[in-house]
Amino acid sequence: MSLNLTTSQIELLASLDSMQDTMANTTIELCNINSGSFNAEGITRAQEKVIQLFEDVSEDYQTLPLEPIKKLDSNGNEYEVNIAPMQVFRARPSAPLQILCTGHIDTVFPAESEFQTCWIEGNRLHGPGTADMKGGLVVLAHVLKALNSSEYKNQFGFTIAISPDEEIGSPSSGDVLMSLAKDHDFGLTYEPALADGTLAGARKGSGNFSLVAKGFSTHAGRSFFEGKNAVLAISQAATELAKLSNEETGITVNIGKIDGGGPVNVVPDLCVCHFNIRMHEPEQQIQVEKQINDIVQAISDSSGCEMTLHGKFNRPPKPMTEKQLAMFELLKSCGEKIGLNIQWQATGGCCEGNNLAAAGLINIDTLGVRGANIHSEEEFACIDSFVERAQLSALLITHLIDFKSQL
Ligand SMILES: [Zn+2]
Repeated sequence: MSLNLTTSQIELLASLDSMQDTMANTTIELCNINSGSFNAEGITRAQEKVIQLFEDVSEDYQTLPLEPIKKLDSNGNEYEVNIAPMQVFRARPSAPLQILCTGHIDTVFPAESEFQTCWIEGNRLHGPGTADMKGGLVVLAHVLKALNSSEYKNQFGFTIAISPDEEIGSPSSGDVLMSLAKDHDFGLTYEPALADGTLAGARKGSGNFSLVAKGFSTHAGRSFFEGKNAVLAISQAATELAKLSNEETGITVNIGKIDGGGPVNVVPDLCVCHFNIRMHEPEQQIQVEKQINDIVQAISDSSGCEMTLHGKFNRPPKPMTEKQLAMFELLKSCGEKIGLNIQWQATGGCCEGNNLAAAGLINIDTLGVRGANIHSEEEFACIDSFVERAQLSALLITHLIDFKSQL
């Protein structure tokens, strides 16, 4: 360990030294509760565990109701699904440094998934959400607990926001995160780092959309030319939308799913196309948004089909700004003090860190455990990363107090 650490920092780090088994066991308890994004009962049970996790480190707990999620039925009509509230814990709101810590309790594994419980294999803690990101929530709780028992306690306050809808793109919590971001100096999010410890730097923005075409159904033999073919309209629109992808600019349009049509002797009157768009820069988002609307309008005019676009850019791009880079450099120097070589790389994936950045909050969003194979039944967290990552975050927070005045 480097000699640059103060006695208080050394004590702080030492208080986390022996916490590996406690953190791993708490993670197992959390992960053995299925909390797939649409498993309402499971989310509620997991949220009770989250209260236990954070009630001792915080002073205040409340739940913020979230808007229902909008989905499309097979007829292309929108309907709403209620979701659990966001959990918000706070402490010391008038301290000089205010940190927004975020995470999610949902996982990609539905109630009927076969991947339900944890097991240990060497240094790997396998299980649904061990890395993404219940392990990270446990790390966060221990970071705050250690800091609360240190002399740094009164120098910072925090809000912890745990959302139930991150794995489906934060459709409802995204706006709440952005409004919370405005009252804080820095954001810390506990998504996993890669197994080798690499963090996510710049992130692309992303939006999920559904385009519904409603035409006019006729018999293909008797009155073909009176029909308005919704499948054809969607095919044309999908082809035009896909042409917006460009390797040089990094803009991608992925046509993910098309539903529509029936017997071949009938002109189909309904078709729905689901697609995802990603880009690097906020300006590209504005440009692409206009291009999509132009394409939809043009195909609607030429086909005679009524076309409705649903969805939005729920994750704005998170570019590597100067201030973002300064925060990463600070984390790197914290890592050096505890023998870690902290690296980061740009990614096309996105998370809550995008939403925080869009609200102007400087943040690092992969402060959770090291792990791999997330969103698959091979998911695991590296057991030896619990203490290491908790110490890294704790040290970072002690430095954020001065760093704030240098920005
Ligand atoms: Zn995640």
